[in-house]
Amino acid sequence: EHFFNINNLKVNIDDKEILKGVNLEVGKGETHIIMGPNGSGKSTLAYTLMGHPLYKVTNGEINLEGESLKDLSADKRAIKGMFLSFQYPEEVDGVTVEEFLRTAKTKTWGEMQRILPFKKLLKEKMEALEMDESYATRYLNLGFSGGEKKKNEILQMSILEPKIAILDETDSGLDVDAIRIVAQGVKKFKDKERSIVVITHYNKLLEYLAPDYIHILMDGKIIKTGGMELAKEIDENGYEEIRKKYLK
Ligand code: ADP
Ligand code: MG
Ligand code: MG
Repeated sequence: EHFFNINNLKVNIDDKEILKGVNLEVGKGETHIIMGPNGSGKSTLAYTLMGHPLYKVTNGEINLEGESLKDLSADKRAIKGMFLSFQYPEEVDGVTVEEFLRTAKTKTWGEMQRILPFKKLLKEKMEALEMDESYATRYLNLGFSGGEKKKNEILQMSILEPKIAILDETDSGLDVDAIRIVAQGVKKFKDKERSIVVITHYNKLLEYLAPDYIHILMDGKIIKTGGMELAKEIDENGYEEIRKKYLK
């Protein structure tokens, strides 16, 4: 029994089947990468894991530490220890980054976060991400650049300390600095206890992360699992060759 399991997951949007039996097993402390061509269902998988109501699970299971998450709301999943990159809200009026993160931690951990110890924790985490102190007192996302939003997202992950984080970086158009921030944040986050699944096509990010496994999602299924050599193969031959070789 793995730490985190997805078993034969089938997902519809409206009446169209998008995920056609996804299997994924993630052990404690492991880093997994999911790659795949546009439209293969990567974001669908991420949204489904978040519990987004548009995505209807018609079959299969999502288990974290032996507990099914399939019928839980996004908030409940967060309480169970799951973090998703797009959990981060849009601009919220009159709420500072610090207030937002303290409230989020209180909700997910179910423990009141006292102001002074939380300030100290936040300061440490921000320093680790080379963030300016002034971020903490800025209003959430208001006038933040793409890179700043990305930093805040990674900061949120490091503050909430989820058991497993799913980051969908595929369509976010990260610049080189943002890629470095993500990589740095992920490296600081992962330890023996914490697992991470990153959806990406950025080779630079792959190099930084040195994942344990790479999975190729095509036509709604994971058709191949391997190591860094798979990324090289995709790069050199393209997805059509991969499809011919591995899709049965
Ligand atoms: P990827 O992230 O791998 O590029 P997506 O999960 O975004 O792929 O999309 C997978 C398939 O689901 C595509 O065929 C896409 O057109 C379809 N799809 C995604 N989101 C929606 C939606 N909101 N409504 C209808 N179809 C969608
Ligand atoms: Mg897409
Ligand atoms: Mg996508």
